Amino acid sequence: PQAGDTILEVREVSKRFGGLTANNAVSFTVRAGEVMALIGPNGAGKSTMFNCISGVNPPTEGEVRFLNQRVERLESREIARRGMSRTFQHVRLLPTMSVLDNVAIGAHLRGSRNFVHASCRLDRDEERRLRHESARQIERVGLGEHLFDAAGSLPLGKQRIVEIARALAADPCLLLLDEPAAGLRYLEKQALAELLRKLRGEGMGILLVEHDMDFVMGLADRVVVMEFGEKLAEGLPKQIQEDPKVLQAYLGG
Ligand code: ADP
Ligand code: MG
Repeated sequence: PQAGDTILEVREVSKRFGGLTANNAVSFTVRAGEVMALIGPNGAGKSTMFNCISGVNPPTEGEVRFLNQRVERLESREIARRGMSRTFQHVRLLPTMSVLDNVAIGAHLRGSRNFVHASCRLDRDEERRLRHESARQIERVGLGEHLFDAAGSLPLGKQRIVEIARALAADPCLLLLDEPAAGLRYLEKQALAELLRKLRGEGMGILLVEHDMDFVMGLADRVVVMEFGEKLAEGLPKQIQEDPKVLQAYLGG
């Protein structure tokens, strides 16, 4: 896709868990080469929305179109194979494995013609190619000096970036990041924002959930605000910051 093209379209997506409505008819889009932020109080339904989009836990109703195709009934692995990668709210690295091995797990999700052979190490060429591609992604995010370090030995800010490298290893055009800045120090947040700006500049579409308002407002091109499972507001960061409904939701709740 070209920068500016709509790559993700969420249409009237609802998700219910028994009697609880976690998402209620939510719609928005994400374009190539933009950072879209999803914000809102705890329990607003942001992670649930990520699960609906990425096929981890499909919506009860509504459509998810990725690259102009319906994906809301596809398995998460198939959606990943088509070019959507995500990270989770809590770090999911294997702490004793190297950075390279952690990222290679992501490379296995896509680009491998023969997933089973590659993961069983029956296909040595394929394995070598994946490790080479993984190393390239680690360089791309600026962690080349840590290729063989145990992932768990790195500070949290770098672990988050390893997770992004792992997502990139699947060669996505859309990245979903669930609270990537949570718990990071100021300088780590700055490094993360710089990386996301670089990826955006390369045409990546980025959808991120984030609590840190300074981080969101300094980075996002557009913002969707959720509250109680519904979309409360959508707009440019400046509009959102001045929106009375949004101020009410944040100050009032
Ligand atoms: P956020 O990420 O915005 O903090 P979540 O999407 O995690 O919010 O949660 C939204 C609501 O859905 C919460 O009330 C939560 O308890 C509920 N919820 C999330 N996942 C499940 C699940 N698997 N089963 C039942 N309820 C869930
Ligand atoms: Mg969440």
